Amino acid sequence: MDVTFGANIVLHYGFSASGMLSIVNRRVAQPMATACKEKGCKNMVPRALESPALCLVHFTLLVEKTCAEIRRETVYGKTPHGRQMEIVQYIADQGEMLTRAATGGVVLADEMKARILNTLLTLMNLRENLDRAAMRQPVGRTGGT
Ligand SMILES: [Zn+2]
Repeated sequence: MDVTFGANIVLHYGFSASGMLSIVNRRVAQPMATACKEKGCKNMVPRALESPALCLVHFTLLVEKTCAEIRRETVYGKTPHGRQMEIVQYIADQGEMLTRAATGGVVLADEMKARILNTLLTLMNLRENLDRAAMRQPVGRTGGT
């Protein structure tokens, strides 16, 4: 298999070549890696967190804070369906970004790993609570007490 030019080998070469190319491009375009946008923070932004432009610490802090706000907002189970869908999407997006950042090959201290796991747990619990609150709400009943 290694001797013949199998599809796997071609794919593999193509992948590593483009990977190298993007590293070179990044070095040319940005001499310094992106720094966290939080004031006074000098941590670097992992590639997976380029869109929020936050380091892992500040990203987890933001997610925790937002989850606490959503929890307060949804605790009575009267959240409109559209808003619930937004929240479900938010939870999935943040979970995906966090997982990518955590498994993207960056060396992480044990404390950081624990923080990431904790934030993932917060997201999972929030999702669970959301589903439970929605189930408690009787179908067709409008208004409240
Ligand atoms: Zn930061």
